[in-house]
Amino acid sequence: MFALAPGKGILSHREPGGVVHAYIALRRSEEWLGEIDFNNAAAAKVRIAAEFEGWAPALTAFIADSDSAPVLRLIHSLPQEHCRPRVPGVTLLGDAAHLMAPSGEGANLAMYDGAELAKAIIAHPDDLEAALTVYEQQLFPRSTKAAQEAEEVNDILYGAQSQHSLVKMFTQ
Ligand SMILES: Cc1cc2nc3c(=O)[nH]c(=O)nc-3n(C[C@H](O)[C@H](O)[C@H](O)COP(=O)(O)OP(=O)(O)OC[C@H]3O[C@@H](n4cnc5c(N)ncnc54)[C@H](O)[C@@H]3O)c2cc1C
Repeated sequence: MFALAPGKGILSHREPGGVVHAYIALRRSEEWLGEIDFNNAAAAKVRIAAEFEGWAPALTAFIADSDSAPVLRLIHSLPQEHCRPRVPGVTLLGDAAHLMAPSGEGANLAMYDGAELAKAIIAHPDDLEAALTVYEQQLFPRSTKAAQEAEEVNDILYGAQSQHSLVKMFTQ
């Protein structure tokens, strides 16, 4: 479930065991978020709920009536065209290689990287450096494209047109 407005949203997943898991998204600076005391769950909920004043109570209940304390998750990302020189004997995959804002693809990308790395090693059984070079030549452009798409998704979710853009994306 996505309830979106520019710069903010209430998102929820239905999980096994009758659990509903909610993300409360706010596009705010680390400093702004740092002023909320997440050790004081009740006060943190009130402060976050204040950002959703006037929203339907069925939605703000995800904040006010949650069974668990809110946990702050800052969203970090690497530059879209992040690239680094080859380091013999070492490579990276998954978020370590291409951390980006959540777009629903991060876990897929991590598994895809793993499969591609395995294929490169199988294709160069006697030359690990050649395998890692081939893997990274494809990794960096793949990651850049995914990071650009992640930015587009985040703009759809939290940009100026966010109240309509997700519906538009699904119905186009
Ligand atoms: C809010 C949010 C929502 C998301 N939603 C989705 C989604 O719907 N679909 C999707 O595909 N992706 C989603 N993602 C992204 C996805 O979770 C990640 O892209 C994915 O987990 C990356 O996998 P990974 O194995 O590279 O890294 P991780 O899952 O971060 O695994 C790294 C592991 O290494 C461990 N570790 C770290 N340092 C050390 C150390 N020094 N020694 C030993 N272990 C260490 C960590 O504890 C962790 O378990 C979301 C991410 C966020 C933040």
